[in-house]
Amino acid sequence: MAEIKQEYDGLVLGAGIAGMQAALDLAGQGFDVLLVERAPSIGGVMVGLNKVFPTLDCSSCICTPRMAEVAHHERITLLTYTELKHLERTARGFSVTLVKKPRYVVEEDCIGCAKCELACNVVVPHEFDYGLGAHAAVYIPHGNAIPQVAVLDPQYCMFDGACARACPTDCIDFTQQPEEINVQAGAVILATGLKLVPLDVKKEYGGGKYVNVMNPLAMERLQSPNGPYGHVMRPSDGKIPRSIAYVQCAGSRDKSIGVPYCSRICCMYALKQGIMIRQHLPETEVTIYHMDIRAFGKGYEQFYRRAVGEGIRVVKAKVARITEEPNKDLKLRVELIDEGGRVAEIRHDLVVLSQGVIPGWKPDGAAPVRIDEDGFFLIPEMAARPANSSHEGVFVAGVATGPKDIPDAIVEAGAAAMEAAMYLGRSQARAGGVQ
Ligand SMILES: Cc1cc2nc3c(=O)[nH]c(=O)nc-3n(C[C@H](O)[C@H](O)[C@H](O)COP(=O)(O)OP(=O)(O)OC[C@H]3O[C@@H](n4cnc5c(N)ncnc54)[C@H](O)[C@@H]3O)c2cc1C
Repeated sequence: MAEIKQEYDGLVLGAGIAGMQAALDLAGQGFDVLLVERAPSIGGVMVGLNKVFPTLDCSSCICTPRMAEVAHHERITLLTYTELKHLERTARGFSVTLVKKPRYVVEEDCIGCAKCELACNVVVPHEFDYGLGAHAAVYIPHGNAIPQVAVLDPQYCMFDGACARACPTDCIDFTQQPEEINVQAGAVILATGLKLVPLDVKKEYGGGKYVNVMNPLAMERLQSPNGPYGHVMRPSDGKIPRSIAYVQCAGSRDKSIGVPYCSRICCMYALKQGIMIRQHLPETEVTIYHMDIRAFGKGYEQFYRRAVGEGIRVVKAKVARITEEPNKDLKLRVELIDEGGRVAEIRHDLVVLSQGVIPGWKPDGAAPVRIDEDGFFLIPEMAARPANSSHEGVFVAGVATGPKDIPDAIVEAGAAAMEAAMYLGRSQARAGGVQ
C-alpha cells in the first residue's frame, strides 16, 4: 500500500476514466492528489469495454495508459479497495475518513505472479466478466488491473492454506482487518460513475432468469479479445448465435421503475456492438428493437447510418415480453410500430437488454452533497458551472452527474480539476493573507 500522508490538496473519489482524468489534471497543476477507488483495480467501466463508439478504437488501449500514468504519477497517491466512510467540512478544508477493505494479501509484497490463484481449488464466477468466466477465491482482478495485486474473497475461500504455501513472497495474510484512514483534503472531486439498472428489473424480459438474456457489459466482455472466451457465443450451450436481438430502453425512459430519463449511451453501444458482431460473424443477424434511435454526438448520426449500411436491422417496436423455448432460444412478443402496431412473435438465439444507467454510488450522508430527483449529483448552476456540486469545495465529474459518453466524461473531469485548482488557489491565497 502506498504511504499515506495526512494532508492532500485534492481527494478524488472514483478511479474510472473521469476520476483518473481529474486526478491527472489536478496533479499536473502541481497539487498532491489522493485517488480513492472502491474496487480492487482502477479503470472503472471503460477498462472492460471492447471498442469505443464512434471511432471503434480499442477501449483498453486508451484506458490502460491512463491507468499506468495515474499509478506512476509522483503527485498522485492511489488507494484501491477503499470506501469513503465520511467527509466533512472543517476550517482547513475537508476531514476525510476512509475504510480500506482487507485484501488478505499484503499489497506491497505481492508481485502479481498469480501462483496463489493457480494453487487455489475454488472456482468462482468472474466478476469482471459478468459471471461468464471464472477465477479462484484468490485472484488478480483481471489482466489489465492496476495494481497487479491479488485479492482474496473470504466468502469463497476454504482457508486450507494452499495459496499461502504457493506464494513466493509470503504475502497471504488471513488476519487482515478493515483499516480506517483519516486524511485532510483541500478540495474534493466526486467521480463515482455508473451502475446499470438491475438485469431483472423488468420481469417480463426474463433477465437474470433466462441465461441467454444478457447484460450489455457482458457482451462487451464476450467481444473483447481478452474476454472469457475470445469470441461471442451463447452462454447456455456455447453455440455461435445466428440471430441476436437488442431491446432498447430496457430500464430507461420508464417511470414505472423510477428511471424516467434517457440513458443517452444505449443506442450507440447497441449499434457499436452490432457492428462488431457483424464484423466477426457476418452471417449473424442483429436486430435492434427501439422506440427511437438517439444518436446525438459528433459523428454519431453517421455511425448510425454506417451500422444500418452494414446490415444491422433497426426496427421501431415495443417489446412486450420475452419467453424461453426448451432449447433456450428466446421468443420476443413485439408490437411493430411501423407496421401499424401489428403484434408478432419473433425468435432469437440471444437477447441483449440495453439496460439504463443509474448512479454508481449514493452518498447517503457520507458526503455533504445534494442529489437530484434521479439520484445523480445535483449541479445547482448547470449552465454556468457544470462541475460544481451543491457544496463549496466539492466538484463532480463523469456519469456521477448524469448519463454520458466517455468524451463528455473526460471533458467534465478536466473542468472539475480546473475548478478544484482555482478553489485551492483561492483557499491558499486566503490562508496566506491571514498569516
Ligand atoms: C455497455 C456499455 C458500453 C459503453 N460503450 C461506450 C463507448 O463505446 N463509448 C463511449 O464514449 N462510452 C461508452 N459507454 C459509457 C462509458 O462507459 C462511460 O461514459 C464511462 O465509463 C464513464 O466514466 P466514469 O469515470 O464517469 O464512471 P465509471 O467508469 O463508472 O467509474 C467510476 C468509478 O468509481 C468507483 N466508485 C464508485 N463509487 C465509489 C466510492 N464510493 N468510493 C470509491 N470509488 C467509487 C467505481 O468503482 C468506478 O471505478 C458505455 C457504457 C456501457 C454501459
